[in-house]
Amino acid sequence: MPDAHAARTQQNRNLEFRSEICYNSAMNALTLVHSIISSTVKKGETCIDATAGRGYDTAFLCGLVGESGRVVAFDIQQDAIDSTNKLLAERGLKAEVVHRSHEFMAEYAESESVSAIVFNLGYLPGGDHTIFTHADSSIRAITAGLELLRHGGIMCVSIYHGGATGYEERDALLEWLKELDTEKYQVLVVRFHNWKKDPPIPVIIMKF
Ligand code: SAM
Repeated sequence: MPDAHAARTQQNRNLEFRSEICYNSAMNALTLVHSIISSTVKKGETCIDATAGRGYDTAFLCGLVGESGRVVAFDIQQDAIDSTNKLLAERGLKAEVVHRSHEFMAEYAESESVSAIVFNLGYLPGGDHTIFTHADSSIRAITAGLELLRHGGIMCVSIYHGGATGYEERDALLEWLKELDTEKYQVLVVRFHNWKKDPPIPVIIMKF
C-alpha cells in the first residue's frame, strides 16, 4: 500500500515539525512564528511564503498543509529558488516556488483563500548581503497579502534590521502597521526586550 505508506511518512514529518516547535525551550523569532502559525493552519489549506530564502519556512508550511494543501513561495534570487527546491526535494515535499517579487502574490491565489503568509525580511543567509527586502515593495506585498488572507488567517512578518540591511525598512513598516484598520486586523509587535544588538522583530497580524 504505497499510498498509506506515503501518508504515514508525511504524518511523521508533520509530527517532527510540530515537536521541534513544542520542545524548543529557547523561544526565538522563528519558533514563535512557527508555533503561532501551526495553531492556525489546517491540512488542505493554502499558505504563502513571501520570502523563500533557503526554504525552511516553505518546508515548514508544506508540513502543515500536507499533500492536500498548497504552498506558494516567492523569492527574487535564483540562489534562493534553487536552495528552496533542493530542500523540498530532500524532504519529499511539494510547493510552487516562484522566481518573482512577492508584490505579485495576488496573481497566485484568490482573495480571502489563504490561511497563513510568512515574511522573513532582510537578506539571504549565506548569500549576497547587498540584496535585501525594502519598505516600499514589502508594504505593497503585505497589502496584497492581507487581501488574500481568509478571515481568521494570520500573517507573520519577521523584521530583521541593522547591519547591511539598516533601519529604514523597520522604521517605515512599524509606522505603516500602526495605521491598519482596527476593525479588520489585530497587529502584535513582539520585542525580545533584553536581547542585545538588533534582535529580529516578529510582527503578527490577525485578520478578523
Ligand atoms: N524564510 C527564509 C528561509 O527560511 O530560509 C529566509 C528569508 S531571507 C531572510 C530573505 C529573502 O527575501 C532573501 O532570500 C531575499 O532574496 C528575499 N527577497 C528580497 N526581496 C524580495 C522580494 N521583493 N520578493 C521576494 N523575496 C525577496
